[in-house]
Amino acid sequence: LDGVTKVFPDGDGEIVAVDDVDIEMRDGEFLVVVGPSGCGKSTTLRMVAGLETISSGEIRLAGQRVNDVKPQHRDIAMVFQSYALYPHMTVAENMAFGLEESTTLPDDEIEERVHDAAETMGIAELLDRKPSELSGGQQQRVALGRAIVRDPEVFLMDEPLSNLDAKLRSQMRTELQRLQAELDVTTMYVTHDQTEAMTMGDRIAILNDGKLQQVATPLECYHEPANQFVAGFIGDPSMNFFDMERDGDTLVGSRFEYPLSQSTLDDVGETRNVTLGVRPEDIEVGTDESGSHTYSAVVEVVEPMGDENTVYLRFESAPEGETFIATIDGLQQAAVGDRVTVSIPEETIHLFDGRSGEAVHNRRLDMNDEISSPPT
Ligand code: ATP
Repeated sequence: LDGVTKVFPDGDGEIVAVDDVDIEMRDGEFLVVVGPSGCGKSTTLRMVAGLETISSGEIRLAGQRVNDVKPQHRDIAMVFQSYALYPHMTVAENMAFGLEESTTLPDDEIEERVHDAAETMGIAELLDRKPSELSGGQQQRVALGRAIVRDPEVFLMDEPLSNLDAKLRSQMRTELQRLQAELDVTTMYVTHDQTEAMTMGDRIAILNDGKLQQVATPLECYHEPANQFVAGFIGDPSMNFFDMERDGDTLVGSRFEYPLSQSTLDDVGETRNVTLGVRPEDIEVGTDESGSHTYSAVVEVVEPMGDENTVYLRFESAPEGETFIATIDGLQQAAVGDRVTVSIPEETIHLFDGRSGEAVHNRRLDMNDEISSPPT
């Protein structure tokens, strides 16, 4: 996608749904397009599919400009949130229909492809059933099977798992990844679910308000966000943000002060208004007041998740309700009203330009420990 823009008329004005987006997808890549509701994800996908015209810019498929190529000639298969199966046709007929319409393949070849795709999707025993006789998960498999039989150059998927319950969704997530790796088909996958983005994508493209924020691997987006929007969008619970002002080598906020080391100061440069970001899991909660960057806080709310506790904390000088979040081990005790010491280690912080939101300092990915290989 090269400078791709989509403008919709809106009364007397217009809506720029997709604003000058550049994305280069690699062959065989699984790219997840993610962002909040209305950010332009579906419109982007629909332009790639040819279901929506492009206002300006260019979309190329394998080097060929496809702006004016009809959807059926783009060698693309699309899977929607609504499975859009034909209710009066059997599963086999549903899967064969697209091929019968768009190719001149002989019947026995179509039948073979349908059988192969049904095997791959684990629905071979359902081929004679009607969609109304299938569960939601099975219907979704049929919709995917129908895309697979086409053997396309590209899969486009728009929230294909969002109608499934949580357990089935996570199962299908794994299955889709396996399938995509096995078929090695370039896939663009739209979701608003950042868990799907993190776990499924080779890379993630994050959109906000029609504008591309970052295209990078999931871990890069998480640890090296390009800006405050990405930092806040990726990760659950979200990163904590504090507005600070630089005074010499210290950041001064309304509730606490945060001295910076020289190398961090070098990253900050001349920026005066800085937003300090720290992820909930990087905040240490305890009673040890001896370290640097430690502060007193009060526990306001504890949400036990089993494996961990989500703790809502308040700086002592802050009014009730002005909280930040830390996640601590599930076996670590914390009770409402407890006075605790929180530590915000400098190697974990992110700093953003307070005006533009651009990242000026991120934690470094290459500082993370590798899981060591087992002894031989
Ligand atoms: P969601 O996650 O809610 O589906 P999205 O990121 O897929 O959202 P789009 O459906 O691409 O968002 O919409 C992007 C913007 O374009 C929105 O402001 C939407 O209202 C607007 N829009 C989409 N389709 C049209 C249309 N046909 N006419 C006018 N405006 C439209």
